[in-house]
Amino acid sequence: MKLTKIIFFLLMSLSFIDLPGQDYKSLREQMVKKQIKARGISDAKVLEAMQKVERHQFVPRNYLSKAYDDGPLPIGEGQTISQPYIVAYMTEILKLSGDEKVLEIGTGSGYQAAILGEVAKQVYTIEVIDKLGNKAKKLLKELGYKNIEVKVGDGYQGWKEHAPYDAIIVTCSPTHIPEALKEQLAEGGIMVIPVGQRFAQQLILLTKKSGKLVKKQTLAVRFVPMIDEEGKNY
Ligand code: SAH
Repeated sequence: MKLTKIIFFLLMSLSFIDLPGQDYKSLREQMVKKQIKARGISDAKVLEAMQKVERHQFVPRNYLSKAYDDGPLPIGEGQTISQPYIVAYMTEILKLSGDEKVLEIGTGSGYQAAILGEVAKQVYTIEVIDKLGNKAKKLLKELGYKNIEVKVGDGYQGWKEHAPYDAIIVTCSPTHIPEALKEQLAEGGIMVIPVGQRFAQQLILLTKKSGKLVKKQTLAVRFVPMIDEEGKNY
């Protein structure tokens, strides 16, 4: 009994041990090759960002060994960091060339914001849960991102002060497209947003052409719901 307990604790503590930097780099190379490129992502800037940004910095310590796995991971407060492929896919369809101002709703861990920070000029990101927002803000600052601004608040209203945005990316799911986000999208701008019910959502791509929104459905996805400051679903 005692021995099994010791073995159990030894195994538990192993999962907390940091892998050397070199291993993370090759894990990222494998991630980009097998999860991202193999599924058709080809934008060089997006691939470069996925190779560069250290996803393990954004996951909780007890999930370090899974940092480059092919799926979402819990980040606390009942929220998740998205699957790497979904992050790459949503970034690629925004067709960023490097000059854009981007708004993200749902900062979470800050990982998607960091990827955007690599491929766009300026990123504004909003998180409704203050604990997550403040943690992401601190981490992104420590990592040296000067072009990412994090705000704690309700992203349903957008961020009017810096509007209009060339691109808007929503990483939590409302049942409808928020009016404020439609308004804050620039002419010619692109928005990507998962819309639907708790377990059945479609990733919608919207383009603003002559003031009108042109809609296109893409993947079936499953994001956490968009909530207000009281925790009520939109
Ligand atoms: N982009 C994130 C994934 C975040 S999961 C990453 O890369 O890690 C979705 C996040 O949206 C959660 O952190 C959740 O708290 C947040 N969220 C939900 N409703 C929101 C709202 N109305 N405004 C801003 N953030 C919201």
